[in-house]
Amino acid sequence: MRVCSHPTRREIMAGSLAAALATSVAGVPSIAHAAGGDGVHKLALGDLQITILSDGVLNVPTRLLNRDMNSATIEAALGEAGSASGQVQYGVNIVLVRSGSELVLIDAGAGGTWEPTAGKLADRLATAGIDPGTITKVVITHGHPDHLWGLVDEFDDSPRFANAQHIMPAPELDYWRKVSVETLPERTQGVAAGAKRVIATVGERLAAAAPDAEILPGIAFLATPGHTPGHCSVRISGGAHGLIVTADTLFHPHVSFAYPEWQPAADMDGAQAVASRRRLLDMAAADGLQLASYHLPFPGLGRVERRGAAYRWLSARA
Ligand SMILES: [Zn+2]
Repeated sequence: MRVCSHPTRREIMAGSLAAALATSVAGVPSIAHAAGGDGVHKLALGDLQITILSDGVLNVPTRLLNRDMNSATIEAALGEAGSASGQVQYGVNIVLVRSGSELVLIDAGAGGTWEPTAGKLADRLATAGIDPGTITKVVITHGHPDHLWGLVDEFDDSPRFANAQHIMPAPELDYWRKVSVETLPERTQGVAAGAKRVIATVGERLAAAAPDAEILPGIAFLATPGHTPGHCSVRISGGAHGLIVTADTLFHPHVSFAYPEWQPAADMDGAQAVASRRRLLDMAAADGLQLASYHLPFPGLGRVERRGAAYRWLSARA
C-alpha cells in the first residue's frame, strides 16, 4: 500500500494530518502481497494477516560482522555484498500479526534516540492506518536498543502501546533486570541502562514468558539464545508451512548464510549464537518455512536452502 506523503511523527502529533492520513488509507483493500516503497509490506499467512513495518536502517561498520577477523578479511569475504564505505546497512523489519481480535507486534524498533536512521515505527503505523492503542500484545525478542527502545514514546517518556500486554522471554527479562551496569564494559553500559529504563517505564504491562511459551494459539517463542542470554525467535503457524520471525539470529543476507559460524561483535555468547543460528536454519530449510528477518533488507522475507555445511538466502523479492 502507498500513501502520497510521508509525514513525520512530529507532523502527525501536531494535528490534522493524522485524520487526513486515516481517510486516505481507509479504502485501500488488503491484498495478499502488497509491497511497500513506503516501508509497509503486507502478506497473508493462512488466516493471519501479517504486516511488516520498516523502522528504518542501521549503519554498521563491517568490522563488527566478525569479532575475530580484521576489516580487510571481512570485506574480502563479503565480495559484492560489501561496500566501499566500510559499512553495511541492516534493515529493521518489525512484524505485526493480526489474528482474530488480537493485534500482535513483535519487537518495537529503536525509538527516536538510538540512531537517526531508525525509530520510524510510529510513522509506519500511521502509514498503515494502525492506532498504537489498538495493539493488544507486544512481544519482545530481546533487550537490545533496536528492538526495545521503541516501546517508549520519546516525546513524553510514556509507554507507546498503552493498552498492550508486553511479553518478554523470562531469562532475557531476568538478565536485564539483574545486570549491574557498572560491571559492564563502558561501550555496553548505555545499552544496559537503556534496557533498565524502558523496562521500568513499561512497568506492570510487561510479563515474562518461558522461552518456548505459546503467546497465542499458533504463535510461540522459539529459544535461540546466544545473541543475548534469553534471545528468542517467534514461530508462527499458518498457511502451508508457517513462518519464523528470526530476530537477531540472522544479521546479513550473505554472511549469516555462507558463514554461519562467524561470530559478530554483538553476539554476547558467540558459540551459543552459532548453534542457535544453525538449528534455526536447519529447521527452516527442512520444513520449508518462510523467514521474516529483522535485519536483512526490507521486508526481510525469504526462505533458506542448504549448501553443504552452509546455507543460501532466497529472498522473496529476488
Ligand atoms: Zn537487532
